[in-house]
Amino acid sequence: MLLRRLICCARFCFGCFIVWSMVCLLTVSLQGVVLAQAIQLHVDLTDAPRNIYHAHLRIPVKPGALTLVFPKWIPGNHRPSGPIGALTGIKMQAMGQQGLGQPLAWERDPVDMYAFHVTVPAGADELQVSLDAITTQDSAGGGGPAASSNLLDLNWNAVVLYPQGAKSDAVEFAPSVTLPANWKFGTALTVARANADKVEFAPTSLTTLIDSPLIAGLFYRRIELTKPGETPVHVMDVVADSAAELAMKPEDLTAYQKLVAETGALFGARHYRQYHFLYTLSDVVGGHGLEHHESNDSAAAGRTLLDDDLHLIFADLVPHEFAHSWNGKYRRPAGLATPNYQEPMVGDLLWVYEGLTEYLGTLLAVRSGLWSPAQYREALAHTAAELDHRTGRNWRPLEDTARSVQILRMMGPQWQSWRRGLDYYPEGQLIWLEVDATIRQQTHGQRSLNDFCRSFHGGESGPPKVVPYTFDDIVRALNEVAPYDWSGLLRERVGATATHAPLGGIERGGWKLVYSDQPNLHAQAIEKLVKFSDFSYSLGFSVSENGEFSDVIVGSPAHAAGLGPGMKLIAVNGRKYSPPVMHAALKAAQASADPIELLVENAQYIKTYSVAYHGGDQNPHLERVSDQPDLLSDLLKPLTK
Ligand SMILES: [Zn+2]
Repeated sequence: MLLRRLICCARFCFGCFIVWSMVCLLTVSLQGVVLAQAIQLHVDLTDAPRNIYHAHLRIPVKPGALTLVFPKWIPGNHRPSGPIGALTGIKMQAMGQQGLGQPLAWERDPVDMYAFHVTVPAGADELQVSLDAITTQDSAGGGGPAASSNLLDLNWNAVVLYPQGAKSDAVEFAPSVTLPANWKFGTALTVARANADKVEFAPTSLTTLIDSPLIAGLFYRRIELTKPGETPVHVMDVVADSAAELAMKPEDLTAYQKLVAETGALFGARHYRQYHFLYTLSDVVGGHGLEHHESNDSAAAGRTLLDDDLHLIFADLVPHEFAHSWNGKYRRPAGLATPNYQEPMVGDLLWVYEGLTEYLGTLLAVRSGLWSPAQYREALAHTAAELDHRTGRNWRPLEDTARSVQILRMMGPQWQSWRRGLDYYPEGQLIWLEVDATIRQQTHGQRSLNDFCRSFHGGESGPPKVVPYTFDDIVRALNEVAPYDWSGLLRERVGATATHAPLGGIERGGWKLVYSDQPNLHAQAIEKLVKFSDFSYSLGFSVSENGEFSDVIVGSPAHAAGLGPGMKLIAVNGRKYSPPVMHAALKAAQASADPIELLVENAQYIKTYSVAYHGGDQNPHLERVSDQPDLLSDLLKPLTK
């Protein structure tokens, strides 16, 4: 999912060079299940406005013991985030020619909460399962609900059970849905037939089903992004909470069309049959961006197409998720290419999966015209400054943030700079910028990371498949573009502790990170949206609208004064706290030897803290280093006219 600094991603398919179209031909028999026949799945979405989906499965079975499992490790979430707590209303009954149909007792595994045991009686050939998914917590990995009064997001992993031990490529589903009256939908699934609000899809593997979410809404707009006659087809399906929020400016339409063209020029191949940009615009639903082979499920604020600040914040969301079709879905770290959703994932290479995607997503945002180069530089300066104040890098290498995704993802902001968060996204971005700038320097501008993308992610166009890779594969591919000690550089960047962020890419690019009292426009837009104030680079804390410290940076003036996250700021130099009052105090302290006095509430006690700081407001920007080539501007240039 992606709200910058709160962000990102995605979804799955199965590993090892198996093309999707092959999977349905397999006739595998696991204990108690007949995999040669498709599981019928119907999802009644008419209760979506009150955030509950009703599913009914008809599973071909044989008599005997059977274990069904609920997807646990969710691709793109990279962690065991399958919403098992939201799975409710489970009822089973066996069907057959001998008049069966009585309720069948099931039992949850005492250790594995995602597994359900049942005994299929003699004479039964079908198990019918009813279940409900409560969707008040987004099943795509975001924070909000999956549906509102006017729109919904269906991630099929929330409404399926499948035989334990089966590979997801080998299980076939015949899915269908009933939508709320008059809602329209978008999905990468192939529609077999549609009749009023009932839609049936062509049978598909469980892999493809879970990789193909569906969005729907009362306010829906289909936008063609492909020129007439071109293949594969690219479509943007937009749903919003109001008709007004669907309005896309002509320049944005042009930019999204250019985004498609730029990815073609960058990668040189497409690994999908058609592509759907599923775009939800809502202040209620979302907070996510989830990548798939043939679609992306992205959600931004309701007025993103109308408001300049929101546009600035979310501009790289769709490019990021789109780039994942190549980096993450087609080429995938071996540890994330698992055969089904119960196998644990290993996230060590997420600094490639997410970090390179973060880098490419921001580049593509500029190359397509969604960001100006100046906006890109403000966003990059914001990222660089935030990471340069990550004191946790002193004890925690970047790779450990990737390996720890399953424990870091849902942590709050308290002590974030010391604990570190999902830093493999933004710090990965800085590392890949350094790699790109280094290739350009080493080859005197003859080669770049574009060449790496073409060789590593390109290949032959065709339907989705997964080609896993290792660290050594990355190093080998980089050396084919430009010989260098890539192994040494990358192992240092991801495996070693350090005091400062890797800013070599900015510096090799001909720019440097500086601070001034002028607001960073990207940071300012996020502060406005999330309703907080960021004094990280001056006093050393961020503070919510109601005065609560969300984080205090270890080693900062505020930290030295004894402040910590969770405390509440009441007054600054005797005057009630507000952002303007704090900015005025910072300015006054520049001409004074007196500390800034902060009146703070902590666990029912109130105390004054003296902060010895006289540097004024500090906001990050990039400044040109005039005697060096401007590689940073070069790499932002579009590859297409
Ligand atoms: Zn991502």
